[in-house]
Amino acid sequence: MKRGTLPKTDLARALAEIVGPEHVLADDDQRHEYAFDAYVLWRLAESDGEETPLPDVAVRPGATNEVQAMVRLANDRGTPIVPYGGGTGVMGAAAPVRGGIVVDLRRMARLRYVSPEGLVAQVEAGRRLGDLDAELGRHGLMLGHDPWSQPIATVGGAISTDGVGYLAAGYGSMGEQVLGLEAVLPGGELLEAKKVSLAAGVSPHRLLIGAEGVFGIITAATIKVFPAPEERSVHAIDFPSFESGFRAILAMRQRGVSLSMLDYSEEPLAKGDGAILYFAIDGFRESVAVHRDAALRLCSEHGGRDLGREAADRFWEDRHESADRWTERIAGGRRNARVAARQPRPFDYLHLAVPADEVLAFRGWCRERLAAEGVDIAEVAIWGRPDLFSLVIVGAEVSGGGKRSLSALSEQLIRRAQEMGGTMEYCHGVGLKLQHLMGQELGGGMDALRALKRALDPNGIMNPGKLGLT
Ligand SMILES: Cc1cc2nc3c(=O)[nH]c(=O)nc-3n(C[C@H](O)[C@H](O)[C@H](O)COP(=O)(O)OP(=O)(O)OC[C@H]3O[C@@H](n4cnc5c(N)ncnc54)[C@H](O)[C@@H]3O)c2cc1C
Repeated sequence: MKRGTLPKTDLARALAEIVGPEHVLADDDQRHEYAFDAYVLWRLAESDGEETPLPDVAVRPGATNEVQAMVRLANDRGTPIVPYGGGTGVMGAAAPVRGGIVVDLRRMARLRYVSPEGLVAQVEAGRRLGDLDAELGRHGLMLGHDPWSQPIATVGGAISTDGVGYLAAGYGSMGEQVLGLEAVLPGGELLEAKKVSLAAGVSPHRLLIGAEGVFGIITAATIKVFPAPEERSVHAIDFPSFESGFRAILAMRQRGVSLSMLDYSEEPLAKGDGAILYFAIDGFRESVAVHRDAALRLCSEHGGRDLGREAADRFWEDRHESADRWTERIAGGRRNARVAARQPRPFDYLHLAVPADEVLAFRGWCRERLAAEGVDIAEVAIWGRPDLFSLVIVGAEVSGGGKRSLSALSEQLIRRAQEMGGTMEYCHGVGLKLQHLMGQELGGGMDALRALKRALDPNGIMNPGKLGLT
């Protein structure tokens, strides 16, 4: 193995003994690359002027036993340790807010096992979702999680945020596709992953889904994989109003139409009234034909106008464009991209879940509340399932105090969704942005989580300062 120069600090030297000095990143520029994820770039107006702490060191392990050794070292010293995947999280969950060691898992990217018969695969946590999907394709299979960030986000990050992607309508969230996890717990113990689809009794791996790395570092995952569909039929339908398209979505579900993709949005600032529904149906040809005919008929009965194949294909082909833009933006270093991302008006992207039968009333309430405060709605959307409701809102000039009032308004919307039996974020996790609201989100469940955290991580080393736990 090629050995680099031995790093300077005692901590970096000890880590170099574990992974080799070439995988220990300790200079200033390298530490800046691991100081934040996508949160501070996207919503910079909210974190204007705030300095994000740097990690002491970033490390790139190549094997599970190296991760175990690093976690033991961190635990013995009481040093924070923060797992890091693609760094695309938009809530700040990967930011090492108390310094310490950042563990970049992207060298651990092997597909260890794949069974086209069992529709199961075991893959290391640092594998990028897009690469994994391409490799599964060579076995006639596909990954059921396809977020905008698919080319750059990792398996471990997607599980730890329980991400939602374009295919959630048919295949569920990333967490719903997990069958087992191999993970290093805060004391260095190893949780092992089986290769089958059901486990006996309580499955401890579930504690790590959506946990943002606070209970351990995932090193590999056993996941469901799916046969690549013989046909995928994608459609674009224009509706005269948000209400009419939403009712068509409910009617399709009630009729038992099986959609693999559902993306519905209106952009009041861009085009006034009207909303576009994109949907897809996957499966073997005969089954696709039956579901497609029923879906198109229901859309037409609700006033929908088919925009044709070209519009549908363009949407599907361009769906990862934002990931390409993001990659370009950070190509010159995250620190520079941070400055370039400054926006004159603050905006917020809310992904709330509310009961499907109350979505239209909730949308009406949001519109009234926001209009009264002079805040624009750039987009209202439904993604995957009718209860998954997003809003992009744009406040007044940052310089006029717009940032403060926009955060306060976002919290009013969140609270209202929670009071209706909904949830504050269905897609991106909690991170730094929402952790102060975890108590009101979970109620008594928060005490249980705190007790688990104390029991598993008594020294509080594992991604501290997250989920409102430490
Ligand atoms: C352009 C763009 C588009 C996006 N589109 C979507 C979208 O469509 N759907 C969606 O859900 N999200 C989307 N996101 C957000 C982001 O891509 C997801 O949250 C993604 O799941 C994060 O994966 P990551 O590998 O980048 O994780 P990171 O950002 O590196 O980490 C996220 C969290 O997971 C923890 N973590 C990472 N790896 C591990 C591990 N191996 N073990 C334990 N904990 C770990 C980190 O500590 C952190 O708490 C988008 C982001 C961008 C920038």
